Amino acid sequence: MIDDEPYTLYNRVSLPRYLRGVLLEQRVYVRDMEWHTKNRIDLRLETKVDQVNFDEKTVHMEPGGEISYDRLLIATGGRPNPLRAPGAEGAPYLFNFQYFDEAKGMVARIPESKVAVVLGGSFIGYELTEAFAHRGLETHWLMRGPWFLRRALDLEGGKVITLLAQDAGVHLHYDEAIDRLERSNGQLKVIGTKGFTATADMVGVGLGLTMNIDIFEGTGLETNVGVKTNEFLETNMPDVWSAGDVAEFYDVVSQRHHRMGTWDNSLNHGRHVAKNMLGAKEPYIEVPTYASGMFNSNISVMGVTTEEEPDAEAVVEVEYEPRNYKRLFFLGDKLVGAILVGKMKGRKKVLELISSRTPIEDRRKVFELLALPELPPKAPAATPE
Ligand SMILES: Cc1cc2nc3c(=O)[nH]c(=O)nc-3n(C[C@H](O)[C@H](O)[C@H](O)COP(=O)(O)OP(=O)(O)OC[C@H]3O[C@@H](n4cnc5c(N)ncnc54)[C@H](O)[C@@H]3O)c2cc1C
Repeated sequence: MIDDEPYTLYNRVSLPRYLRGVLLEQRVYVRDMEWHTKNRIDLRLETKVDQVNFDEKTVHMEPGGEISYDRLLIATGGRPNPLRAPGAEGAPYLFNFQYFDEAKGMVARIPESKVAVVLGGSFIGYELTEAFAHRGLETHWLMRGPWFLRRALDLEGGKVITLLAQDAGVHLHYDEAIDRLERSNGQLKVIGTKGFTATADMVGVGLGLTMNIDIFEGTGLETNVGVKTNEFLETNMPDVWSAGDVAEFYDVVSQRHHRMGTWDNSLNHGRHVAKNMLGAKEPYIEVPTYASGMFNSNISVMGVTTEEEPDAEAVVEVEYEPRNYKRLFFLGDKLVGAILVGKMKGRKKVLELISSRTPIEDRRKVFELLALPELPPKAPAATPE
């Protein structure tokens, strides 16, 4: 197992809670070195794979040189896109949020900080904003779009998130980005594209990921945004599979190729691909889900939304008080995805309707189904005496 980071497996999903100050550093780790030794896993940390030869079945790494493989898994994930603006390169206190080291850098800076600026209208932007606000910093959240998750939420959904952010004391700046940064007495002056200015102690950016596929250029491995696989997570190269964020896999449920940037998907991919690498040939069938806090509320994204499938049609139910929102996505007569904010009731029913591909005639009737009480799990049948 080859990885270029200096740490044994840690949970990226725990990083926001560590940043918020509610989780100790030690609790972010999932595995230690002893576990790998006990399980006879040769883990090479701080080691970068710089070349793969699929004909010779060899991997070249630095340090360490070449090793050969019988079967290979590519799970290289993505790296965060840096802020490209004048003054950004090498700026102190400007952070991405993907790695443990970045989280540690921010945790060290927070006690000396009063004002934070965040750029990014998706989940990483949200996590940074929430953590800074939770730590009591004056927090400004900038995003290029007119509202959070602008491709998946509509105006009403955007408004619910705005209300939740304002409840948490966050200052929102829509249709705004960072034009340039200037260093000023140990702080960063942030100048926006539409008139925003602030002198910040820290700046966080969540501008998406670039998949780590550069090393496969010219090797014949089929890639697009990520590494292309079929429904078995097999690539076009013999004895090579791909999983996790980097895998652009054929999804049997939505019947198209796509990538999922979620922990659950990566974990399930890993478990599934292990079986296939050991000789099984089972398709990966799972409705993708993403669940997260949303300030003092919750958000859940399931299946396919207009982010991935702009032609999907949607129906919405919203209650501004107490900040509940449901958006259901359809392709033809099939429910293919949903976003719930606030009350999570009906989540199981949504997943069931998506995976069973049940034909639905009256789309709004689904809201009634979601409001029904959920059945408790069946009790085991009593054994007759
Ligand atoms: C702050 C944060 C919060 C998140 N919150 C959530 C959440 O609430 N819910 C959720 O579902 N998901 C969340 N995610 C996403 C989730 O963490 C990812 O989907 C998951 O970590 C992907 O796992 P992976 O193994 O595919 O890739 P990664 O975790 O990206 O791991 C890939 C590893 O490969 C290494 N690598 C890449 N190329 C090479 C090379 N050539 N040689 C050696 N090593 C290499 C990388 O450095 C990295 O260590 C969050 C992510 C972040 C950053």
